[in-house]
Amino acid sequence: MKIATRIIHAGLAPAVQGEPFLAGVTFAGVYHASGDPSTSPYTYGRYHNPTWTQFERALSELEGGVAISFASGMAAVAAVFGVTLRPGDVLVIPSDCYYTSRLLADGFFAEFGVEVRKAPTAGDGLGRLLPGAKLLWLESPANPGLDVCDIRGLVAAAHQEGALVAIDNTTPTVLGQNPLELGADFSVASDTKGLTGHSDLILGHVAVRDSQRAEKLFTWRTQTGAIPGPMEVWLAHRSLATLEMRLERQSRNAQMIAEYLAPQPQVTGLRYPGLPNDPAHQIAAQQMRYFGPIVSFVLAGQEQAESFLGACQLVIEATSFGGFRTTAERRARWSGDVIPDGFIRLSAGCEDHEDLIADLEQALASL
Ligand code: PLP
Repeated sequence: MKIATRIIHAGLAPAVQGEPFLAGVTFAGVYHASGDPSTSPYTYGRYHNPTWTQFERALSELEGGVAISFASGMAAVAAVFGVTLRPGDVLVIPSDCYYTSRLLADGFFAEFGVEVRKAPTAGDGLGRLLPGAKLLWLESPANPGLDVCDIRGLVAAAHQEGALVAIDNTTPTVLGQNPLELGADFSVASDTKGLTGHSDLILGHVAVRDSQRAEKLFTWRTQTGAIPGPMEVWLAHRSLATLEMRLERQSRNAQMIAEYLAPQPQVTGLRYPGLPNDPAHQIAAQQMRYFGPIVSFVLAGQEQAESFLGACQLVIEATSFGGFRTTAERRARWSGDVIPDGFIRLSAGCEDHEDLIADLEQALASL
């Protein structure tokens, strides 16, 4: 069955007379469970919830493994670090991946005695740091710089060195790129972004192929309490059904925006993996189904970037990405990434591309 069809039906139980397609949200802290707890499918709300079960079944189908939902993307990142890394272990992580993942590695995990080695996503630096590593962390395309790495090649090199590989797949989503199919041991994502796409919740997940590893992640979630709210999970499942339509439209809009921006005299440093002359294009085309919604570019400086964002009437100034409304921000207003002051990260939504380009055109003309 085609992925567009699978997404729409993912996680649903066979249709039952008089029942909704997607079972309603279950709010429960405690379930009736008498006698031996192992005889009850649900006992206590920190362990399990039928709304999670239904959503995790959907994610598991799409990832091609066992998926565990977490309270946020960072709860998912922390779970992978937590079940994998012990004092004396080596973590290899991109120097340009999501800032908070690096902060967590350099902060708590380095304090616990984990050695953190960093190299850029592009080039062969990550591969050279692998000897002796326990975990290779990848993020491709990396947020916000949009460099891409050769996932299959790095997975093979890491496995040869005895290291596990985790991929933060937030920017493309499992539809845009499938980490487990590309050989990774962990597929990690912030579902706050494109997977749910409505900018109305915070959520994350991890998927693995191996049931023992899944068990460890379940235990981590139960014991740290990094559990998702059932309402968020139900909304996520409802939103998942439109992922293919959203991502297809967002990627098409991003491509057209990138093509529009390319010749503009005010724009430098344009990056979009879908542009044939982008340094990431060739590898991206080999491992991605969609090039995704994010386009990045640079304006002359902070003042120009702020004036541009202020002049946009349709494009909303906001952090984050992947929603069906087009957003953009001057990324250097946050610290942590080595980017120019005028660096703009734009996330294409699902609006009509002519309206979006007209808005960008009038904002650039106002500079
Ligand atoms: N990974 C990436 C690539 C992100 O961009 C983000 C958030 O921006 C996260 C992880 C963390 O996700 P959350 O904000 O859902 O905790």
